[in-house]
Amino acid sequence: MRHRLLAIAILSVLALPAVAADSVLQCGKLFDSRSGKMLGAHTVVVRGGKVAEVLPGRVEATTGARSIDLTDRTCMAGWTDLHVHLDHESNRQSYSEGFRLDEVDFAYRSVGFAEKTLMAGFTSVRDLGGTVTTHLRDAITQGLVKGPRIWAAGKSIATTGGHADPTNGYNSELSHLLGPPGPTDGVINSVDDARQAVRQRYKEGSDVIKITATGGVLSYAKSADAPQFTVDEVKAIVDTAKDYGYSVAAHAHGEEGMKRAVMGGVTSIEHGTQMSDEVMRLMKQKGTWYVPTIHAGRFVAEKAKIDGYFPEIVRPKAARIGAQIQATAGRAYKAGVKIGFGTDMGVGPHGENAQEFLYMVEAGMPAAYALQAATIHAATVLGVDDQGVVEAGKRADIIAMPGDPLTDIASVLKVVFVMKDGAVYREPRR
Ligand SMILES: [Zn+2]
Repeated sequence: MRHRLLAIAILSVLALPAVAADSVLQCGKLFDSRSGKMLGAHTVVVRGGKVAEVLPGRVEATTGARSIDLTDRTCMAGWTDLHVHLDHESNRQSYSEGFRLDEVDFAYRSVGFAEKTLMAGFTSVRDLGGTVTTHLRDAITQGLVKGPRIWAAGKSIATTGGHADPTNGYNSELSHLLGPPGPTDGVINSVDDARQAVRQRYKEGSDVIKITATGGVLSYAKSADAPQFTVDEVKAIVDTAKDYGYSVAAHAHGEEGMKRAVMGGVTSIEHGTQMSDEVMRLMKQKGTWYVPTIHAGRFVAEKAKIDGYFPEIVRPKAARIGAQIQATAGRAYKAGVKIGFGTDMGVGPHGENAQEFLYMVEAGMPAAYALQAATIHAATVLGVDDQGVVEAGKRADIIAMPGDPLTDIASVLKVVFVMKDGAVYREPRR
């Protein structure tokens, strides 16, 4: 009797008020992305799409709340992929699809890509270039389709012939017919054009600005290394972006273009293939983030071995650039450059995003650091402080997987639970 009374007393202390929670997650372990430490069992109380409480141990939910048993799983904040392209996925036909397909075809495809990304544990993404993604973002926000929270760049900004000039590779007749692309199409050639291009992205509903500071691997052009903006043009983009509260992400492979982008004040360098020690020092000094996208590098290097997968103008770039990114990521981490998580999915297959964690660890980063790069650090890159960590008051973006990713990083490939803004999208089978 006494034992029973004691048990009731304990239960009444631990029991949560009946109307206090929408759902209660019992986690076997909890990764604290703020400290980078793995904690023991915790109970996460979710209310109104936000984390209401995080309590040590296992606390039972009372009536009204949905109890979710994750006692044999590791919970953590939902991941962010800072570099995706949800409007496409490369294949052998990629280079002709632009001539055959309509934008609506790419839009339908993006719906499936978005869902795969969310189900893999990515509750947020930064989409760095793609004209359907601002619309996809709105459809997801309205609950019409399932997908991650999106920060969309819309059309990337390039210079004539640069990576993201939409008319690269067109024959002369077609080029003549269409005329040279300008700031509205994301192609600039002066400081004035630069301002106009950013304002046009604002008009189109972008959330972030993407520039292609050097040539690119997959564009129909010879060089992936050549610088493609002056420092003044980059500065004009960054300054104008600030007027709208935008950060600027810069695609860059070659050193000179990368250096100009950093000096111009961009927020992050994407790929960063030929990042020299000097550029690393400059990035540390300016607080510039590095988003390596190792997955894309390895993917294109692999595909370059297959005859006919890429046009011949692309193939040598894919073989050379792709093979270098992982080593650069390792060097940059050692040098103390801040790393954000990004894959460039759309080059590789959507939904395989978590593979990047394995590549980051292989490059020499501790597993905890790689996980922070996709959670709390990614939130900083996005310029928000309401996500990326499981704490009271933050968005209830929570994922779970079996095992302990700090001791076995491959656990990240086995996500079984996905919650975004307090809504459950994926649950372990019982
Ligand atoms: Zn990209």
